[in-house]
Amino acid sequence: MTEAWGPEDGGRHSGPVRIRVPAKINLHLGVGALRPDGFHELTTVYHAISLFDELRASHGDTLALTMEGEGQGELALDETNLVIRAARALAAHARVPAYARLHLRKSIPLAGGLAGGSADAAATLLACDALWGTGLAREELAEIGAALGSDIPFLLHGGTALGTGHGEVISPVLARPTTWHWVVAIADGGLRTPDVYRELDRLRDHGQAPAALDTPDVLMAALRQRDPKVLGDALGNDLQAAAVSLRPELADVLQAGSKAGAVTGIVSGSGPSVVFLATDAARAEHLAQALTSAGVCREARTARGPMPGARIT
Ligand code: ATP
Repeated sequence: MTEAWGPEDGGRHSGPVRIRVPAKINLHLGVGALRPDGFHELTTVYHAISLFDELRASHGDTLALTMEGEGQGELALDETNLVIRAARALAAHARVPAYARLHLRKSIPLAGGLAGGSADAAATLLACDALWGTGLAREELAEIGAALGSDIPFLLHGGTALGTGHGEVISPVLARPTTWHWVVAIADGGLRTPDVYRELDRLRDHGQAPAALDTPDVLMAALRQRDPKVLGDALGNDLQAAAVSLRPELADVLQAGSKAGAVTGIVSGSGPSVVFLATDAARAEHLAQALTSAGVCREARTARGPMPGARIT
């Protein structure tokens, strides 16, 4: 049931509310020691790219989620889904009933290291805040989001930003207004993020992990220039060795991209998606085609960054 709400209803949106939310990649992902709370200390530079999920929210008599696209038939739509968890968390915080009909159009692959689930949670917080007229500031939504997932505050923020703590403390990065061109090589099947962290701990315990990344200062300086080569040399991900150890075929993906003219390739977050930097849009297109023909990934998609965070469309 969709109802029209007037201004006397305290700012509630008549609905539907439509949100577009980007995927994230990590330009720098430095993984520190395992903390007693079970999280690793992280220093990361997030970057939002033009691979989007869309969420539509309208009024309803219960809380219900439907979906189409990536992960349909595979992703549970019950209380475990981050969309439902985010809606319930906002409703509890704002003391309103958690009633909404939510429909997700998913383009971000599941468990791909692109934070699709966190993106959906960020979209839900923004959608339900508008739909229910709870009128929270983005910082408050980010706080609610941080309790559900470390990447959620960034996905509300967007752009390029530094993440510290376990990734949830966001500060903007001073960068030149430049569009970077990426190709995302999407694998068949995902990798579970906790498995990848565990593998990194194992490699480190056995002295088999490459030296941990330094501070992101070099990357920050590279972002103030417009040279893809300089940016490419500054990209780094401490989780890459662990992702490749669990999924050795990622080495073939990285090699295929490099052969096809990528400036640099890097595993995205905990993988198994691999992102390649290209010098311009035409070369990104060529690279995506070369990766697809090489048969090293399920799909290769071009994307631009930085993109804004979750937004009402
Ligand atoms: P990250 O990089 O943040 O660790 P990821 O990109 O590797 O995440 P996601 O697609 O965000 O992986 O999801 C990880 C897991 O979260 C999924 O395997 C799924 O079980 C669970 N999940 C819950 N809700 C969602 C959702 N709406 N979309 C995707 N995954 C979800």
